[in-house]
Amino acid sequence: MNDITNILDNLLSQDTPYGLNAAQKALMFKPGLKALTRLHFDNCIGYHNIFAANGLDINDFTAQQTPALSVQLFKHNELVSVSKEQVIKTLTSSGTTSQQVAKILLDAPTSRYQTKVLVHILQSFLGKKRLPMLIIDHPNVIKDRQSFSARGAGIVGLSTFGRDHTYALDNNMAIDFAAIKGFIEKYPNQPILLFGFTFMVWQHFIEALNQSGETLDLAQAILLHSGGWKKLQRQALSNSDFKAALEQTTGITGVHNFYGMAEQVGSVLVECEQGYLHCSNFSDIHIQSSEDLSDAPPGQAGVVVIESLLPMSYPGHRLLTEDTATLIGEDDCQCGRLGKYILVHNRVARTQARGCSDVG
Ligand SMILES: [Zn+2]
Repeated sequence: MNDITNILDNLLSQDTPYGLNAAQKALMFKPGLKALTRLHFDNCIGYHNIFAANGLDINDFTAQQTPALSVQLFKHNELVSVSKEQVIKTLTSSGTTSQQVAKILLDAPTSRYQTKVLVHILQSFLGKKRLPMLIIDHPNVIKDRQSFSARGAGIVGLSTFGRDHTYALDNNMAIDFAAIKGFIEKYPNQPILLFGFTFMVWQHFIEALNQSGETLDLAQAILLHSGGWKKLQRQALSNSDFKAALEQTTGITGVHNFYGMAEQVGSVLVECEQGYLHCSNFSDIHIQSSEDLSDAPPGQAGVVVIESLLPMSYPGHRLLTEDTATLIGEDDCQCGRLGKYILVHNRVARTQARGCSDVG
């Protein structure tokens, strides 16, 4: 455990989460991943069984021998590497392909580092000052405990980056023009933060503005949005269409989508000014070729395997997702950030995703 927290503290002390090139990052990321693999092998029975069931060797830390656990696994099994008494928080995620809920069990150190790393990453985009914050959702999303879903939890988590939290929608999901205009008048000519889930921002904000014929002057705002494109891709909406419509209705040009999952809270990939999602020092991505399980070369789409140095209380450090993406490059994005950068496409049919899905 000390091995991994030492590495995390070291990475958190860097000026930026995007300052290490591939060789520099490997010096810390590889030992970190190896320490987590050993930690979970020694402390999580389900994870231990995966090695035996798949004939894997715990002393061989090549990618082929370090299982990428299917996110589905967390829906069928309680995978935990700490005692029940150490669990302080349970995150749930239903995902999109099944109604079954995944349970992610967090201990205090994991939860603490999730927050620290999210702050470290997002502050590099937003600055250190808390900005006035407009939330593209309705106030009841965090009040109604019954529907206190991933959406509610996401809003509560992101709230720490803002102040004077104001909701842009009313409880009927209509735009609350009085609230937004009051907010804009209160904070003229200064940066403000907008946050919402991608689908909510599109359907209940951008499209609703279009239909109302009204525009808002939010040119000084930065929009952070997350939550997947699945519903929007059905409408054949691209990221550039989304941005163009946003700018037309609100004047906003600072837009950052971010990609993350309940199984790896904290180590999110954030969209840069060039429109690519960047791995930070705390995460890595492998694009799994559909031919075999090797890494696909840049430019070729494949299934996303995502690695994070944060999961200490459950074996979620190397996951096979249900998303497809393309690696665009590494260490040479025009935005200046180092690390791998990718484009995420969509979710794959479950049968296409191949990985260890049998705990044994
Ligand atoms: Zn970039």
